[in-house]
Amino acid sequence: MKKVKKLVVGNWKMNPVSLEEARKIVGTVKRNMKNIKRTEVVFCPPFVYLSPLSKAMKGSLSLGAQDANSETAGPFTGEVGHLQLPQFGVKYVIVGHSERRNMGETDEIVNKKVQSVTSLGMTAIVCVGESSRDANGEYLDFVKQQILKALKDVPKKSFENIVIAYEPIWAIGAKQAMTSLDLHEMSIFIKKVLKDSYSIASDGVRIIYGGSVDRVNASSLVKEGNVSGLLVGRQSLESKDFVEIINLVDAQ
Ligand code: PEP
Repeated sequence: MKKVKKLVVGNWKMNPVSLEEARKIVGTVKRNMKNIKRTEVVFCPPFVYLSPLSKAMKGSLSLGAQDANSETAGPFTGEVGHLQLPQFGVKYVIVGHSERRNMGETDEIVNKKVQSVTSLGMTAIVCVGESSRDANGEYLDFVKQQILKALKDVPKKSFENIVIAYEPIWAIGAKQAMTSLDLHEMSIFIKKVLKDSYSIASDGVRIIYGGSVDRVNASSLVKEGNVSGLLVGRQSLESKDFVEIINLVDAQ
């Protein structure tokens, strides 16, 4: 598989409240991307901002969606389909974020979405992660099962369009990220799952980390945590902090 860049993904969730604010964040980050050579930066705004932001994204930034429906078209009031996204330059789609799973998204739905996103040539950022940890390491099997179920029947050629985002639920929106040491252990574990189950080389699928990333922990999470990038929630709305995070990742 080809060597790919590191990845920093900003998941804005249901923010910011105005397009003007969204444009400001993108503008500030874009102006500060000149020296970024080894990292791809992806913004995942709410659907309504995808079209107006798509022009501004051209060049150094990439556009992602936070979710979408795998059905081709039809009577699905309120939904947006994967097929509708590429025309706005969307390259990435987050799939199975814990906040979506919390709203009833099952492993089967996640799997359908992974298949649909990758078959359209976009990259699926597949979120996995346990809600809590136990002394017996059962959380490891939980994460393994989430990965296997999400990737079921996905053709091997589609794996270059897959990113695994390890996001332990207990670290999302929290005061602190997980430790780099614990992340290192998890990244080795996920690589082993991918190798044992799909014969994927250790750098064949990018593994990124999400959960309370900030400018203080970004560097060590990537370097010592042994991951290819970060999925950033709150700090992706703070343009100066986000720029700093991007620079720290790029320097690794
Ligand atoms: C997230 O929800 O994906 C996330 C990582 O959020 P935060 O960075 O705010 O913890």
